Amino acid sequence: MADESKIPPALRQRIRKALLVFSFVLLPVTFVYISCPIITEGASQGIATGGLVVFTFLFIGSLFFGRLWCGYLCPAGGLQEIYFGLNNTRFKTGWLNWLKYPVFFGIFGSIAFAIYSAGGLATVDLFYQTGNGISIDREGAYALLYGQIAFITVFALLAGKRGFCHSFCPIAVMMIAGRKIRNVVGWPALHLSADADRCVDCGRCSKACPMNLDVRGMVREGRMENTECILCASCVDACPEGAVGYAWMGR
Ligand code: SF4
Ligand code: SF4
Repeated sequence: MADESKIPPALRQRIRKALLVFSFVLLPVTFVYISCPIITEGASQGIATGGLVVFTFLFIGSLFFGRLWCGYLCPAGGLQEIYFGLNNTRFKTGWLNWLKYPVFFGIFGSIAFAIYSAGGLATVDLFYQTGNGISIDREGAYALLYGQIAFITVFALLAGKRGFCHSFCPIAVMMIAGRKIRNVVGWPALHLSADADRCVDCGRCSKACPMNLDVRGMVREGRMENTECILCASCVDACPEGAVGYAWMGR
């Protein structure tokens, strides 16, 4: 199935990568809004922080767009795609794929417990722990930021392409949960679609996939839904036969 969007393939991927890198460069500004420790800290004081609001929107977005955020806007994704120049090896450690689930339950459980211990959320402070909305306004914040960058770097360089997304990211699990809910109910959402009859088995889609998915196999089997797919369209744009595309559909 040909992709019905009018954006030329190379341009779409250039824009996608530019957005990811830009998002990473902005991290000193946006860091607080995706930091689980700061969300937990605010929650323990009964404060719904900007980060908690962002997480809520990401979850709602995943009900319609799956993990599109990971493919186009996540700063951690941007950092890891920059590292493709240093380590472009496939993510092979399959068992590590499961690590993110206990991480998710640990972190989101802590947030829920913090809210419970505080007796609920009493106030909203969108700019909690920021100076004029900017995350890095004090020395300690740099330590937290650099610590998280170093952590993501270790996974990206040791585990292979997008190693942190595969193995540790709790936000990924939150969006996988959103996607699963959508799949059970079946309302229209963004998907990959495939036309196996067009496929000539060249394997370019699998090679282009930043999540190292066997896209060629997915096309052959007609099973384009995958929890690790970030809907980045790299496979769509790499396919010379137009066998993979985006589609907006139910079920
Ligand atoms: S399967 Fe396609 S859309 Fe999904 S992550 Fe891989 S390249 Fe991106
Ligand atoms: S790039 Fe297209 S033609 Fe080649 S294997 Fe993938 S789906 Fe088939």
